Amino acid sequence: MTAPEKIDNLYARVRGCTLCPLSRTRTNAVPGEGPIDAEVMCIGEAPGMNEDRQGRPFVGQAGQFLNELLAAGGLSRESVYICNVLKCRPPENRDPFPAEIEACRDYLDEQIDLIDPLVIVTLGRFSMAKFFPNQSISRIHGHVKDTAGRFYVPMYHPAAALHQQSLRETILNDFRQLPGILERARAARKPALQPEPAPAPAQATQARLFE
Ligand code: URA
Repeated sequence: MTAPEKIDNLYARVRGCTLCPLSRTRTNAVPGEGPIDAEVMCIGEAPGMNEDRQGRPFVGQAGQFLNELLAAGGLSRESVYICNVLKCRPPENRDPFPAEIEACRDYLDEQIDLIDPLVIVTLGRFSMAKFFPNQSISRIHGHVKDTAGRFYVPMYHPAAALHQQSLRETILNDFRQLPGILERARAARKPALQPEPAPAPAQATQARLFE
């Protein structure tokens, strides 16, 4: 299977998923969306009412603000891959249960493997906890972790700024760091240049590595 076929296959499995009881209360599952070769992946918490209705992530008020935040970080929404820890809406938007996060975990792991982003931006506590266990968002927001060629940036959830105006500038400032973070992530992924081989006297031409 090609990568686009693999992601379509994943979306089909998510839409038909019955691994946890949220499948009984959802209108639509929300697998995620964005280019398969996106450099940046944003991971939110779970679909809300609008996402559940439309089957797309971050299409409500928090989504509008996320689009603004991405623009402040020099990114268009269309260039970014967006998904959630949970693929189905918890009733009344309650916090995800650990068993639901566990049931959905393989889908998110598959998405990360397929997209293979340079930068993962976590939005809120539940996606932060996957990569920064036992940390507090108020302490580490905007601080980059660089692990095995991938940069992880924990951000406040956009909805937090909608509820708490004082966070607005903080989140905007964190997103404004993204162009620099992305540059560093790109440089870290580039294959190291090999030293040019010394010319072999008997050969007129010698293939050069990485030209
Ligand atoms: N909040 C999220 O965490 N995800 C969405 O898709 C929408 C709101």
